[in-house]
Amino acid sequence: MLSIGGITPFTTIDYPGKLAAVLFCQGCPWRCEYCHNKHLLEMKQPVVHSWEDIIYFLEKRRGLLEAVVFSGGEPTMQQGLPDALVFVKGMGFLTGLHTGGAYPDLLIDCLPYLDWVGMDIKAPFELYERITRVSGSAKTAHKSAELLIQSNVPHQFRTTVDPFLLEDGRLQIMIELVQGWGEELILQEIRRI
Ligand code: SF4
Repeated sequence: MLSIGGITPFTTIDYPGKLAAVLFCQGCPWRCEYCHNKHLLEMKQPVVHSWEDIIYFLEKRRGLLEAVVFSGGEPTMQQGLPDALVFVKGMGFLTGLHTGGAYPDLLIDCLPYLDWVGMDIKAPFELYERITRVSGSAKTAHKSAELLIQSNVPHQFRTTVDPFLLEDGRLQIMIELVQGWGEELILQEIRRI
């Protein structure tokens, strides 16, 4: 159903206020320099965790975990995500999504089955391609943000504060952009490995 490149079996920080497992989905169309999940970027990798293994893992954690978060990589790169969300909800878990918003068309299909979304805002939109190194990324991310704002799915807009964003008032531009949407930009520290 989905290509999963890694699992965090238990976390308290990836779904607000809930005990969750994180499934790291294989594949991402963007190439951010600071990416700490580079092993997930290519879609075609040997299977690390089969979907059957994931189901077995989740079955054993019914009643222990409250939520399952689909992270990545970019989970919306995989067409099987809506079905996977339906399946996991059917097991009784809340569903969460971490996304950069690269695929708004698939996000539309996922929203009815999501209980919470954390969307990364990577830069002021006019500078997006300097972070993602992929043309058109600002347009898709902006569309995804609009979809979230218009939805009734609880969500957060978040950004990883790297040195690029601390120059030329870029972070402040982003904070004000999200405030203009009537929301708050959550700031996260860059993770070093
Ligand atoms: S969007 Fe996320 S997973 Fe994709 S390259 Fe950027 S940091 Fe890595």
